[in-house]
Amino acid sequence: MQTIKSPYNFKGGIHPAYHKELASGSAIQGLPLPATLSVPMSQHLGAPAKPCVKAGDEVKKGTLIGAQAGFISAPVHAPVAGKVNAIAEVLTASGRPCQAVVIERVESDETDFMQPMTNWQSRSKDELLARISEAGIVGMGGAGFPTKIKLSPPMDKPIDTLILNGAECEPYLTSDHRMMVEHAREIRLGAEIARSILGAKTLRIAIEDNKPDAIAAVEKAFEGVAGDVALTVLRTSYPHGSEKQQIYAVTGREVPRGGLPMDTGCVVENVSTAFAISEAVVKGIPLIQRVITVTGDAVQNPANLMAPFGTSYQSLIDACGGFRGGRPAKVISGGPMMGFAVSSLATPTGKTASGVLLLSPGRVSQYTSQACISCGRCVDACPMRLIPSELSQFVEADDIEGAEGIALMDCIECGSCAFVCPAHRPLVQHMRRGKACIMAQRAAAKAKRD
Ligand code: SF4
Ligand code: SF4
Repeated sequence: MQTIKSPYNFKGGIHPAYHKELASGSAIQGLPLPATLSVPMSQHLGAPAKPCVKAGDEVKKGTLIGAQAGFISAPVHAPVAGKVNAIAEVLTASGRPCQAVVIERVESDETDFMQPMTNWQSRSKDELLARISEAGIVGMGGAGFPTKIKLSPPMDKPIDTLILNGAECEPYLTSDHRMMVEHAREIRLGAEIARSILGAKTLRIAIEDNKPDAIAAVEKAFEGVAGDVALTVLRTSYPHGSEKQQIYAVTGREVPRGGLPMDTGCVVENVSTAFAISEAVVKGIPLIQRVITVTGDAVQNPANLMAPFGTSYQSLIDACGGFRGGRPAKVISGGPMMGFAVSSLATPTGKTASGVLLLSPGRVSQYTSQACISCGRCVDACPMRLIPSELSQFVEADDIEGAEGIALMDCIECGSCAFVCPAHRPLVQHMRRGKACIMAQRAAAKAKRD
């Protein structure tokens, strides 16, 4: 496999302080399992799973506890053995309420996994897709889109290139980084399975140049993979992990406005998703846990923890030695650019939670937003070629139609505009509010039509 330097630089983007050194050298470790886990039914994009167990039921590790509840949905499995205490409401990291299956854990080695597919090459594409769906695999880079759907593009959208996303461009986060260093062989296997399902002749692995040990591990693990395979080294720049920017950086192809990655003949899968595919197909293990980076200047011992879903943020922090220097000023689920501030440490982990960031008061700035001074910095920084200043003003004036007219829905909520804005305008909040209004309007119109 050859290693090449990306010849393409996407427009805009920023270079924040990365602070990855806090956790990047910390090998993946387990944690003392909590007595009770609240496993959310909404850990993915689309309809929440429907609980299929009730209080008093006994479950094994891997038992189906939430059934897929629509075309865009995913099943949920018990991450530990135990007894179902209740079906209760919890708040997810994004602050949305959802149902959770509360499991009181018991010590048990019994599992309820699927049959391993040892000779996966002999299985049909439909069998492999069914396994990925049954295992509840969704995109683990943050979006949570069901992987089975992503690997099943329509006939008129042939895919020639699979890109494995190992950019992990968010500051502080190192979970994908550690997965590449420690599990590159399993990632290779998951990539080969996904590539064979898609029939993609080309495979690219995209990693930013601030992860030399991950680059070395992937180069070694992918030696001997047949066909057009290369590792593309990206210059470190945020948001290289975003699908559209990554497709451009790797292939030079641009996703058309309003279009999807598959319009360019590419599918992008996160490296941790590739690992999950390998586990499900080769070992029969459903998606029940993931690596979470617990980091920041307000936690004692930053670490990368393999945590079963439903573990509370408090348990993760306890496993890292607790707070450093008193209560943090801010706890963020995810990274500082695209993450969500969480209001309660009882928040349970899920399939898309790659990090918990604890920041001391010294790291959190308080600003008063001012009027736009038309400096244009946000326009220069926007990787989607939008005009954030105008979009924000449309949304502030409740002119949602006006914002939609200048492509608000193309905003990827990367936060680059807000990062550079000298007037400290809450640009991302405006984008999120405007997009939510448009989605609500579209849903209402659809309901009326149906
Ligand atoms: S948050 Fe949206 S508008 Fe702002 S820079 Fe990112 S894509 Fe552009
Ligand atoms: S960066 Fe801020 S102040 Fe400058 S144009 Fe954009 S919104 Fe206005």
